[in-house]
Amino acid sequence: PPLHYAVVSAGIAGLCCARALAAAGVRVTLFDKSRGPGGRMSTRRGEGWACDHGAQYFTARDPAFQAELGRWQAAGAAARWEPRLVVFDDDQRRDSVGAEARYVGTPRMTAPARLLADGLDLRVQTTVTALQCYEHGWELATAERGVLAEAFDGVLLAVPAPQALPLLQPVLPALAELAGGARMQACWALMLRFETPLALDFDAAFVNCGPLRWIARDTSKPGREGAETWILHASAEWSEAHLEDSPDHVAAALIAAFCELGGGAPLAWAAHRWRYAITASAVDGGCAWHAGAGLGLCGDWLNGGRVEGAWLSGHALAGRVLANVRDELRPGLV
Ligand code: FAD
Repeated sequence: PPLHYAVVSAGIAGLCCARALAAAGVRVTLFDKSRGPGGRMSTRRGEGWACDHGAQYFTARDPAFQAELGRWQAAGAAARWEPRLVVFDDDQRRDSVGAEARYVGTPRMTAPARLLADGLDLRVQTTVTALQCYEHGWELATAERGVLAEAFDGVLLAVPAPQALPLLQPVLPALAELAGGARMQACWALMLRFETPLALDFDAAFVNCGPLRWIARDTSKPGREGAETWILHASAEWSEAHLEDSPDHVAAALIAAFCELGGGAPLAWAAHRWRYAITASAVDGGCAWHAGAGLGLCGDWLNGGRVEGAWLSGHALAGRVLANVRDELRPGLV
């Protein structure tokens, strides 16, 4: 029978890795606890409105990722975003300089993940809670379906480091130590909906004062339809300090800060707390692969903490796996 790998996560790293393995003839099954693919490249949708509340845009510096972006663009799943971008410092506002191209998923941030997931065996709403290695392969315990019937030749974890840690600790302490060394910080995100477009002369801003770090008019991104929406992201420091605050309290504080920057009170809002948004301390390596155990790690936290880094990490892990699966047909006992 062909090799069968489990990929835990349908974020951009897991999807990239899974597609590369599948293209090489490895059977792959993906598991994600969410309702759909995308992970932190995510969009909240309501009646007549939508708003990206995770990753805001991405850049493409590496030639391999540039080629991938070309495929996404050709499929209509990504496009360049050219916002009027400003920077708020303590006492002044200035235009943001820098010519690097920014890209977004179209018509929403989840589009590239949906494209990559197409044709793959993806099981959503399946939270992996434990891994167990037997002679016949790896077994996965899940919150929703108990221990899965099938065994896998290898397991690739593409989840944030704090979520990989409890899965690794009982089976592979060396990789657990790696995951334990990454620190990921929180981010409070507030989506605002307006009846009519706000009369602001910019579409997005880096904010270097107060609780906010980033604000953007989501509807200025290509392909967006529906009511005007803005996204506000609080700084990591503020988010960590207010992690357990009620959404009402968070919304009041962030809307007040938005109004100080020229914004206005919204018709409606929705808050989302990202517990593991941004990688604070970089763990180098790009990916990790234990050939003997058939266990691998990828994700943004292993490669710079951004969309491009996550994709490259998944790409690198697939390369490592493919380089030795042919003579590592069975995982060893851990
Ligand atoms: P994720 O996208 O987090 O995927 C992990 C997946 O694993 C998730 O779908 C999750 O549901 C699933 N999962 C976790 N645990 C389990 C489990 N036990 N069982 C099953 N499934 C599980 N990047 C940029 O490049 N530009 C930006 O502007 C930017 N802004 C950001 C703003 C915010 C608020 C956030 C949160 C992130 C931002 N990022 C940005 C970072 C970017 O979103 C990430 O780097 C990238 O999406 C990470 O991809 P990933 O595949 O590594 O992980």
